[in-house]
Amino acid sequence: MRLITNQSSNKEQFEKNLRYMCEPVDRVTDSLKVVALDLLEMMYRSNAIGLAANQVGLKIRLCALDPAWMQGQRIPIIMFNPEFVECGEEMFKAPEGCLSLPEMGLQVPRFRNVKVKFLGLDNQEYIIKDDNSLLSSVLQHEIDHLDGVLMTDRIVERVDIIYKDTIVEGGIAVNGRKEYCGTLERYTRSFT
Ligand SMILES: [Zn+2]
Repeated sequence: MRLITNQSSNKEQFEKNLRYMCEPVDRVTDSLKVVALDLLEMMYRSNAIGLAANQVGLKIRLCALDPAWMQGQRIPIIMFNPEFVECGEEMFKAPEGCLSLPEMGLQVPRFRNVKVKFLGLDNQEYIIKDDNSLLSSVLQHEIDHLDGVLMTDRIVERVDIIYKDTIVEGGIAVNGRKEYCGTLERYTRSFT
């Protein structure tokens, strides 16, 4: 299991995985359970609070998350086939990061209240409702990944993704990395 990032992969490899609509699973088999627990472990190892399967090259609708990890607690949630059941109307903006886009922090508009149904490790269907906006953000960020959508697609300002093989032209590169415009805030913890 290896993380696919814009820094470790070229544009073609990145897009092949991160711009992919992942397939639902029929049921959670024993081998899928092992994969899911590996994904969760990798999320913790990466000091993140969410990770979607296609971020490690697996094209199935699976993600791991744990917003409580930000407070040092472990309350892991593993979801197969997550799907929105309801979205409230109120929006908010919160800082997000992404393991697939290291060094990037963005203020991303999200729905404050969402309800999501999913298949758990035990093949039972569950419904999760946000009780805080952080959980809502993470749910939307991870389900976006499974639909091939990145946080850069969700903001109003245009943000370019710089790939490993991108030739950065003189004048816009700072320490080999493009500087993003001043309205975008850096965020030290990764959401995913
Ligand atoms: Zn992400």
